[in-house]
Amino acid sequence: MTERIVVIGADAAGMSAASQAKRIAGDTVEIVAFERGAHTSYSACGIPYWVAGDVDELERLIARSPDAHRRNGIDLRMRTEVEEIDLAAGRVAAHDLAAGRSYREGFDSLVIATGAVPVRPPLPGVDAAGVFGVQTLDDGAALLADLDRVQPRRAVIVGGGYIGVEMAEALVRHGVAVTVVDQAAQPMATLDPDMGAAVHRAMEHIGIDVHTDTTVIGFETGSDRRIRAVLTAGGSIPADVVVLGLGVRPNTVLAHDAGLPLGDHGGLRTNVQMQVLGQDHVWAGGDCVEVLNLVSGQYQHVPLGTHANKQGRVIGHNLAGSYATFPGVVGTAVSKVCHLEIARTGLRERDAKRAGFAYVTVTVQSGTKAGYFPGTQQMTVKMIAERGTGRLLGVQIVGNEGSAKRIDTAATALWNRMTVEEMTALDLGYAPPFSPVWDPILVAARQAATAVRQR
Ligand SMILES: Cc1cc2nc3c(=O)[nH]c(=O)nc-3n(C[C@H](O)[C@H](O)[C@H](O)COP(=O)(O)OP(=O)(O)OC[C@H]3O[C@@H](n4cnc5c(N)ncnc54)[C@H](O)[C@@H]3O)c2cc1C
Repeated sequence: MTERIVVIGADAAGMSAASQAKRIAGDTVEIVAFERGAHTSYSACGIPYWVAGDVDELERLIARSPDAHRRNGIDLRMRTEVEEIDLAAGRVAAHDLAAGRSYREGFDSLVIATGAVPVRPPLPGVDAAGVFGVQTLDDGAALLADLDRVQPRRAVIVGGGYIGVEMAEALVRHGVAVTVVDQAAQPMATLDPDMGAAVHRAMEHIGIDVHTDTTVIGFETGSDRRIRAVLTAGGSIPADVVVLGLGVRPNTVLAHDAGLPLGDHGGLRTNVQMQVLGQDHVWAGGDCVEVLNLVSGQYQHVPLGTHANKQGRVIGHNLAGSYATFPGVVGTAVSKVCHLEIARTGLRERDAKRAGFAYVTVTVQSGTKAGYFPGTQQMTVKMIAERGTGRLLGVQIVGNEGSAKRIDTAATALWNRMTVEEMTALDLGYAPPFSPVWDPILVAARQAATAVRQR
């Protein structure tokens, strides 16, 4: 008998699940996918680079169009919003936004891949013309059209997280004077403040004005209702355009209304097969779920495309009767602002404290290539290890070109619960154009191992 699968949300997690299930199970599954937006399988991750001009057109950010999915046998219903899930009856209520028509669709299995909603503070003036989010391709297109039409001179980015700093670069590349405002003590709060301070200094060096410890209290508009300034507790910052980068929260209202329980961070909780806890026929993945941090043992909301794609693939395998798991994350992320690369994995100091670890930290400066090799760049590596056992707990990197992806060595070590002593023996590649003879990760591991022995 054909199994009928309904997927809600047709981007990274949803369409990875649908495509994988179809690939393995073929005609034994019938898949109906609902997407309320106008695009499928798109890269929101590419929006800052599209706005910056590195990517020339929207189509290049779309991995697979609706028609391509339909050719693969998926019944994809675009511009159609799922408004209700009835778990007992095994059906969803959908609303075709173009036709204005509502109908019901039954399922044997349900995949919830509804993503996240951007935080948009309910402050006066937040809906003014010239204030943009960058969550969807349509948001990116609206911002680009505005930049083209208004030719702004001054931009304010609200939020100094990775989307904020990437958008700061995008606007710098448009020749706009950029100010980043963040209420934290340093930008990039996913790093420890000492490493965030290095990002702060580098951004100012690039010419970006960074206001930290600054809370936005509203947005001042002109008589044309267009943004004029961002109002903060410390004064007003003139702005011709504003980009909000305040993070996201799981989009789980639909799931919650259906009676599915949520975790502490508002996301759905699943088992390692991505099956919603307590539900045999409901699966969830991507930005709407919480994930287990394998280092701290605690649940987190980590809204990243890398996880959404993997989780979708796992769901697809399991739906098709195969077996796959997503055990959790170690918290790896990379980003950049102009020439400055930023990377992190594992726990920050505050996470280590919260998880009850006693720890040592070391911070080393190194080059990205042999010291004599042309083009070698500076990078800083901070490493955190458990006091006593020497288990690696986290690594942060800030540096110029060639720095960030070194985090993957640390992420692999974390995944395998290595000690910093064990890491000192890692057989990493060396040749002068790629690395000093002691790779910066090995230098940090060596110093961390010494610190563990001494304390
Ligand atoms: C500017 C930006 C830069 C980013 N950069 C990176 C990066 O460099 N690296 C990285 O790993 N991640 C990055 N991300 C995060 C990444 O894009 C997301 O984690 C990923 O898109 C999540 O995929 P998803 O399928 O869970 O959710 P989404 O991509 O949000 O897709 C969910 C879909 O569900 C649809 N939907 C929601 N509710 C309904 C409903 N009721 N009915 C029908 N459809 C519905 C939505 O319209 C949406 O298309 C970035 C995100 C942004 C915004």
